[in-house]
Amino acid sequence: MRPTSATCIATVFAAWCTPVAGDAQDRQPTIPPPSIIEYRPQSTLVVPTHEVPRAAFPVVDFHGHPPNLSSREAIEQVVAAMDELNLQVMVQARPSSGARLTQQIEAAREAGYADRFVFFASLDLDDVGPGSGERIARQLEADVRAGAVGVGEIMKSFGLTTRKADGTRLALEDPELDVVWQTAARLGVPVFIHTGDPAEFFEPLDYTNERWLEMALFENRRFNDRSRFPSFEDLMAERDRLLARHPNTTWVLAHMGWYTQDLGRLGEIFDANPNVLAEVGAVLYDLGRQPRFAREFFVRYQDRILFGKDSFRPEEYSYYWRVFETADEYFDYYRDYHAFWKLYGMDLPDEVLRKLYYGNALRIVPGMPTAGFPEE
Ligand SMILES: [Zn+2]
Repeated sequence: MRPTSATCIATVFAAWCTPVAGDAQDRQPTIPPPSIIEYRPQSTLVVPTHEVPRAAFPVVDFHGHPPNLSSREAIEQVVAAMDELNLQVMVQARPSSGARLTQQIEAAREAGYADRFVFFASLDLDDVGPGSGERIARQLEADVRAGAVGVGEIMKSFGLTTRKADGTRLALEDPELDVVWQTAARLGVPVFIHTGDPAEFFEPLDYTNERWLEMALFENRRFNDRSRFPSFEDLMAERDRLLARHPNTTWVLAHMGWYTQDLGRLGEIFDANPNVLAEVGAVLYDLGRQPRFAREFFVRYQDRILFGKDSFRPEEYSYYWRVFETADEYFDYYRDYHAFWKLYGMDLPDEVLRKLYYGNALRIVPGMPTAGFPEE
């Protein structure tokens, strides 16, 4: 008689649970083990694969860091790469303001690509003191008049290392800056803000840290010295108070607010603050390891999430299309020090993809070119 499935399960569990002589957990390799750098196992898994070189719908890259776009040559190079990927519009989020900003806006117009780029204005947050808020707000007004359609990217130095004129750390919620966020609200432009970094960067660099390799490789990604940096939790709490304090400002959190390891917390921010959206740049490794929960989250908050890539490396975009669009399993991420695990596709519905790729960006960015996008 064949065993019942219940018996099979019991048998499997018995095999797992009963220690077998010679199979102890503390057994040591009989040959020298490789280092974390050397060990590169190749997957032997054969499953259906679907490479996605081009996005299924035209895309706005909300977190664009192309080179400075002040020459026709630079612009044409970027446009050629965008065309291959189905990137319709790139937000230039590389910090620029004043002449550096207007030069790029004019160059894009002169090259005939005004409908392929939009430009955000950066803020000079160094040495803030009495009167700085008014000065920064005035510059923002001038930049928006010159054609900027958003603020940002506000870099992670704000909150971590930026100092006030008196030498103290500039807190995210410093009241001197209230006028700046109010000005953005009045002008109707979104504020794109990067706060902190992955939570693990703020934790001790020991062998239980999921980002040990990245922290070991990059000294400037270690924020675990409490005498120099706030804790991850304190920084996030400060950011969350800032969002709540300015409900009329549209905030876009870069890198999903660094909550992809705990999406429920980002959901709480979305629930509490209708003025907040988030962008997916450089956190694909976390989404692709929780494809089912992430899919549920993206469906639930489909009006709040924007596509963005961060660093401009054209060969990396297709990993995003593959995670968002397919149900592929167990495939490599593009950067092994971000994640030593594999990715899975989220298989997002078309309706959600459209909002992620362009719909939400078109809704929140004033004057976003509509050419090249499907009519709703
Ligand atoms: Zn960035």
